[in-house]
Amino acid sequence: MSIDQLPFSHPGRFWKGNLHTHSDRSDGGYSPEQVCRQYREAGYDFISLTDHFLPSYDFPITDTRSLRTNRFTTIIGAELHTDLTEFGSPWHILAVGLPDDFAPPGESETAAQMANRAMDAGAYVAVAHPSWYGITERDLEAIGMVDAIEVHNGVAVDHNNHPDSWSLTDVALARGLRYNVCATDDFHGTCGRHDFGRGWVQVKCESLEPEALLSALKAGHYYSSNGPKIHDIRRDGTKLLLRCSPASRVFLTGFSAAAVAVDGGNGLEFEFDLDGFNSPFGRVTVRGADGGSAWSNPFWFE
Ligand SMILES: [Zn+2]
Ligand SMILES: [Zn+2]
Repeated sequence: MSIDQLPFSHPGRFWKGNLHTHSDRSDGGYSPEQVCRQYREAGYDFISLTDHFLPSYDFPITDTRSLRTNRFTTIIGAELHTDLTEFGSPWHILAVGLPDDFAPPGESETAAQMANRAMDAGAYVAVAHPSWYGITERDLEAIGMVDAIEVHNGVAVDHNNHPDSWSLTDVALARGLRYNVCATDDFHGTCGRHDFGRGWVQVKCESLEPEALLSALKAGHYYSSNGPKIHDIRRDGTKLLLRCSPASRVFLTGFSAAAVAVDGGNGLEFEFDLDGFNSPFGRVTVRGADGGSAWSNPFWFE
């Protein structure tokens, strides 16, 4: 997307949501009712319950519509699985915004075919937890272009200490692939892992309707976080201006080693000098004064 497509200048307000969540309809520890209540009571505005779309669970597209209230909503979704990745794991594909009757995969359906089928059905599709599963550049090529890469996966924090997938993402961006990104919990509530409140998105749109949230997600009108807030990013000539919650350090990163880093000092407003930032794209990271990070979607200078 271009800088103008960042969410900040668009109408509406930010809604906090978790895009990757499991219940006992697959391998999660809690019922859909319990999961929705836990997120609602923690101040989230929405979640997508994305149970594993596998034959062992009877291909669940968990219906959460009865759990919506006037202040909390859900987007119907699932985590899709198909053939194997380069290193021999089944694919994990996050699909948010699926129809109830999304069909199970055909016997020889590939990751690319299934991802395309989900996108054709209107879903926001992301490559789930690349770092955790050792997803390679060859895998990204095999699945083809999707909406996003999950750059921060909450369950991987405690599962194998590989929550962060920015490295692969930055390589893909440097190749010119215009991915958005997301941070999620991948909440299961099992195995003694702390996977609640580990990562979320803040989506900007005018109403808390599943359709409005989904189109804002598809358009990239959101940012990701596991702590700080981003209030504004805009360009003013050769400066990029940032407003955020108290930051200890902020970064504009781009192609290869291109970067501008500014010491935060718990500040709320920053400028990045674009003179000398030799990159066709950039992305902003806020390292929070109280810990955690917030990440903008990548944007292209054109
Ligand atoms: Zn997964
Ligand atoms: Zn998952």
